[in-house]
Amino acid sequence: MTIRPLPPVVVNQIAAGEVVERPASVVKEVVENALDAGATHIEVLVEGGGVDLMEVIDDGCGIPRAELPLAIASHATSKVSALDDLEHIATMGFRGEALASIGAVARLEVRSRVRAEDAGGVIVVDHGAVEAAQPAACPPGTRVKITNLFGRVPARRKFLKSAQAETTRIRRVVRDLAAANPGVGFRLASGGRTLLEFPAADATTRIHAILGKDASDQMFEVDLSRDGVSVWGLAGRPDLARPTAQHQILCLNGRPITDRSLRFAIREAYRGLIEPSRHPTAALFLGVPPSRVDVNVHPAKTEVRFRDDRLVFSVLKRGLEQALLQADIVPPLRMPAADSPRVGGTNRPLFGRGEQRASAGFVAEQAREAMTAAAPPPERVSVVDAARPAIQVHRMFLVTEDAEGMVIIDQHALHERVMFERLLERIESANLPSQRLLVPDLVDASADAMEALESLRPMLERLGFDVAPSGPGVLGIHAVPSLLAERGVEIGPFMTDLLDRAADLRAAADAETALRDVLDMMACKAAIKAGDSLTDRELADLLSMREKVERSSNCPHGRPTSLRLSIEELERRFGRR
Ligand code: ADP
Ligand code: MG
Repeated sequence: MTIRPLPPVVVNQIAAGEVVERPASVVKEVVENALDAGATHIEVLVEGGGVDLMEVIDDGCGIPRAELPLAIASHATSKVSALDDLEHIATMGFRGEALASIGAVARLEVRSRVRAEDAGGVIVVDHGAVEAAQPAACPPGTRVKITNLFGRVPARRKFLKSAQAETTRIRRVVRDLAAANPGVGFRLASGGRTLLEFPAADATTRIHAILGKDASDQMFEVDLSRDGVSVWGLAGRPDLARPTAQHQILCLNGRPITDRSLRFAIREAYRGLIEPSRHPTAALFLGVPPSRVDVNVHPAKTEVRFRDDRLVFSVLKRGLEQALLQADIVPPLRMPAADSPRVGGTNRPLFGRGEQRASAGFVAEQAREAMTAAAPPPERVSVVDAARPAIQVHRMFLVTEDAEGMVIIDQHALHERVMFERLLERIESANLPSQRLLVPDLVDASADAMEALESLRPMLERLGFDVAPSGPGVLGIHAVPSLLAERGVEIGPFMTDLLDRAADLRAAADAETALRDVLDMMACKAAIKAGDSLTDRELADLLSMREKVERSSNCPHGRPTSLRLSIEELERRFGRR
């Protein structure tokens, strides 16, 4: 075989694979160019999910007619001139590849006019074939029109989803860029229908516009900076969490990014406040000095690398945690408004749909149902006073009062939360007390689980476990945390659970996360259960601990520990208001 240089068109088509994955990536590049050009308003029009048409119109600085051929040439850029510039990139683009790549796989028309000039120009590239630039009449700014995307690259077209699915992706790209640039007006329309419209605004107004009115009532501000790294934004109360991460917007220095580790920082901050399968709603903006970030690690620049990722991670997590502590996160128990105050007359029983079965999941389920869009303004959680009267109901719930109304507590969830926090605090200073077994307990374990467990041993020792292989496929338990022994937890089943999860625990982001997971398990097993009756003393103890423990409004699994029925709501229901 003979080695030959590839023709430039082919080079660009190959390069295009990195930048131009799908219509949304085209929109992203072209809108980023408009932002770099200082546009104050950007309009995006699409047809057929972007395959038929994508048009981006901006009122930015424009491109001088003489430079049009350069704008669409590869590795030609007005933004970076030396390697050093990559150290402090402040523009969205810098690779000088986007327009060239797009022109290699579609018909691209760039029409532009610099404000100071009377006439503008237009240049066309169709799948790599460049036509000479022509003078053209146009308003100041740039209009980039892309048609027939992947028209001659059928293999790439095959990978596209339906027009609707591609439009959804485009919408998300525009939304995220709009979040990062609140001072710029945006409009996105598809098939003549306006999908997004954001007038220029301040950051808070923009986030509210993006996440919707319902969400904005339930968001609180995050604001922290440390060692040159800052985070600002709005985050949602735990009950705003959604099954997907779509309502999470993360930006770095004005650039929307996807970063697994930072997403994880967000989850960690909400740990215990939401269920693990749900994602917090948040729009968060990180500021990191450009010299400490490398944005040049991914062709689409959505992934970044930090010089000090631990610091960025912890500022984000800490900022959220602090804000969560300030916010009132006890979910209010709201009931649908009734025409008449006759509680029994509505088709919904007092606490919601269906029969009130005595199930432990009851509270969580009701909480989710009861949480409506309107929520009280975020104030500091009022504490339940242990001196106030409290009773146990159906050996499952504790009912007491606070300044705002009646508080209903899930006894298991609260005890679990209290225990978790106490254990966590204790283990910071010393290993947990351990109890030796006279005769080791033996449990079956797969080779994989055993191997995973081996790497978790130092952590398990801190918790008070002493375990060691006891022949092939058998694990010997020689000592257990005193807490589990005292609370009568059966150690065999506990260990089996732990072995099932050993591989996941080993894969956890860090030792701290794995430790917290095992503490969760211990707290859950050792906590009082639904059905356990409590003496007055135990009840009072539990309530007094509630105040001392951070976040006692949610158990470690993210179910709420308490709900509040406000006096206002009660008065309304009884026709007093
Ligand atoms: P990059 O953005 O990495 O520089 P592009 O291929 O996206 O590379 O764009 C090449 C050049 O074309 C830019 O550097 C810029 O000078 C010019 N350009 C592209 N789009 C616009 C626009 N909307 N307004 C003004 N100039 C633009
Ligand atoms: Mg660009």
